[in-house]
Amino acid sequence: MACELCGQEVRVRLYSVTHAIRLRRRWLGVSGAGLVVLGLALFGPFGPGLVLLDTAGLAVLSACAAAVGFAQAHGPATPQPPATRTSRVEGMTSGALERATNLLDTTILADGHNDLAWELRSQAGPNPVEAAAALDLTVRQPSLQTDFPKLAQGKLGLQFWSVYVPCQFEGDSAVTAVLEQVELVHQLAERYPDRLRLVDTAAQAEAAFADGRIASLLGAEGGHSIAESLGVLRSLRRLGVRYMTLTHNLNTTWADSGTDEPAHGGLTEFGREVVREMNRIGMLVDLSHVAPSTMRDALKVSSAPVIFSHSSCIAVNNHPRNIPDDVLSQLPANGGVAMVTFVPGFISAAVTAWDEQLKAAMTAAGQNFLDLGQRGRFAEAWDAPPKPTATVADVVAHVEHAREVAGIDHIGLGGDYDGVGTLPDGLEDVSKYPVLFAALMERGWSDEECAKLAGRNTLRVLRDTELTH
Ligand SMILES: [Zn+2]
Repeated sequence: MACELCGQEVRVRLYSVTHAIRLRRRWLGVSGAGLVVLGLALFGPFGPGLVLLDTAGLAVLSACAAAVGFAQAHGPATPQPPATRTSRVEGMTSGALERATNLLDTTILADGHNDLAWELRSQAGPNPVEAAAALDLTVRQPSLQTDFPKLAQGKLGLQFWSVYVPCQFEGDSAVTAVLEQVELVHQLAERYPDRLRLVDTAAQAEAAFADGRIASLLGAEGGHSIAESLGVLRSLRRLGVRYMTLTHNLNTTWADSGTDEPAHGGLTEFGREVVREMNRIGMLVDLSHVAPSTMRDALKVSSAPVIFSHSSCIAVNNHPRNIPDDVLSQLPANGGVAMVTFVPGFISAAVTAWDEQLKAAMTAAGQNFLDLGQRGRFAEAWDAPPKPTATVADVVAHVEHAREVAGIDHIGLGGDYDGVGTLPDGLEDVSKYPVLFAALMERGWSDEECAKLAGRNTLRVLRDTELTH
């Protein structure tokens, strides 16, 4: 069908009016242009109850609305891809991408880990007000993998924003830094109230999604952030921190990390107390980054479902940041969810091998591979073979293995966007989630199975860990 105003070809899909209003909110926010689109659909050439909206059609109508004098500022920041868009994934049809995009319009897509807050701090300094104001996230920011135009295109519905603090912060300075990062996420939520909404429960997340907001939760990455104080742990929970990763790249005094030399054989007695306290206060125990011994200890102690906010599978790529099968297979009994990550160094054997070379070169030069700042600077100056790239197929292999071992009810996604310099080809930034779902659909995944992976499983874990008192 041709657009009445500009003659450009648009495609038509039928929605009920109620559903269309939900979609309109989700795509455009509550904006003038949204009303224009709905108005054109309701009173224009297509008749009541018939709303013409898909990604391509939406762009055409918005452009037309601007041409007839409506606020252009509310339209998409950049033109959407044409209706015949092709994905960068070999052999993928645009039909699969369209089906994936449609599914994510109506089902929550949750991501377990995004490092936007640390990236903003890296660019603008530790002052949370200045970091939140440094870049306008309503327009595309090439220096970020995450901004609102990309999030809208990627259909993200729920995000655990990481309040990560590097292990180089110790004791009180780690507590100061984590509080600054918590404040930064709160600043972002206040600065962009029509895009983000801080939530704590599954019901609140679903309500935020229905209102076109990204349901936002906080996750503290690294148990060093509490400086061995259960008081700090409880305080972080009161500030909205919904999960804590027990370690980052280094051991804490009470838990072994997967990327450090074993010191405790898993959790110490205090480590077990931390897990019990997290269960008691409704804070999710995140087992990404920890050693398998810590995973097994935590699963023994935890009376609540656990999560892996951003981890993949050891059986697919033997990297210490990944999850062994014996741990994955415990998730059905525990009720938790493994959120598969896209980090190339964890998912691709070729990239892991390149990282090993980098590590050897850094060690020979007297530098510390686990210091991510040092690693980045060294890698930039390093005269080495070009770094291999990971692919969507690598992520698919981990997702499907996790599904096979943990089951369809215990998997999710945790991209780690803005936490690493490069992501797999085809998944470069947060606008690309539908590409992964399209790839899974082309491999026979049903909408129901994709919805579980996308967010339904994570919502269940939220629901199962909410305090009832
Ligand atoms: Zn991490």
